[in-house]
Amino acid sequence: MKYIVSISGGKDSTACLLYALNNLNRDDVIPVFCDTKWEHELTYEYLDYLEHKLNISIIRLESEGMLSLCIRKKFMPNRIMRFCTKELKIKPFNKWLYENFVSKNIDFIVIQGIRREESKSRENTLTFVEKKQTYKGKSFIVKTLYPIAYWSEKEVFEYIAKNGIEVNPLYKRGFTRVGCYPCVFNSKYELMLLADDEEYLQRLRNLENEISKILNKKVTFFPPERDKFLRSKSLFAPPDYQVV
Ligand code: SF4
Repeated sequence: MKYIVSISGGKDSTACLLYALNNLNRDDVIPVFCDTKWEHELTYEYLDYLEHKLNISIIRLESEGMLSLCIRKKFMPNRIMRFCTKELKIKPFNKWLYENFVSKNIDFIVIQGIRREESKSRENTLTFVEKKQTYKGKSFIVKTLYPIAYWSEKEVFEYIAKNGIEVNPLYKRGFTRVGCYPCVFNSKYELMLLADDEEYLQRLRNLENEISKILNKKVTFFPPERDKFLRSKSLFAPPDYQVV
């Protein structure tokens, strides 16, 4: 049996990784990261840190990346139409699972760091579920373990610290969640941080400009009111840019 730990660079997946390494045969634990090519550089550095500190290898699954996805879809994701997760994470992950385990009849369990406390939609999370997934029209069952489903945020941070591991440095900058940067779910505080981060703001504006050109109208990654907020904090704003 192989235990595949889904790694995001965030605290919850780090706690799951430590939990798996502490409680299972290390050789059977396989950490996997789905790269959206839209992550913060500190997250990539954090993965290197985990590998070095824990003496493990994290498999990094390639996706087409956020820019290419938005160009292909002629659209940008938002909180309601969150196709980014499906296209950049779930599909590459299912493909990898199918090719490396399902098609070879190798038993596996996926371990994910989802917690009840995180949101309303997760408040009924069980510790173990069987989910049907598909790859190229073929269905298969993915057994998924949520070992920290009942843990509080405090317990997660304490468990990581107790194991002598640092969390992603983004938390120390005030981020509440770690994933893409920016992410459609960023809080206003995270938008404030983004406004002062010229490199990532430029990357966002480049994406918006690409899609605006394709659609022949100005579009923004965040809804207009949040984009206005971002601009009001922003050091970087092209002078000819108008929010629509
Ligand atoms: S982290 Fe955010 S932007 Fe990235 S795939 Fe998930 S929802 Fe989309």
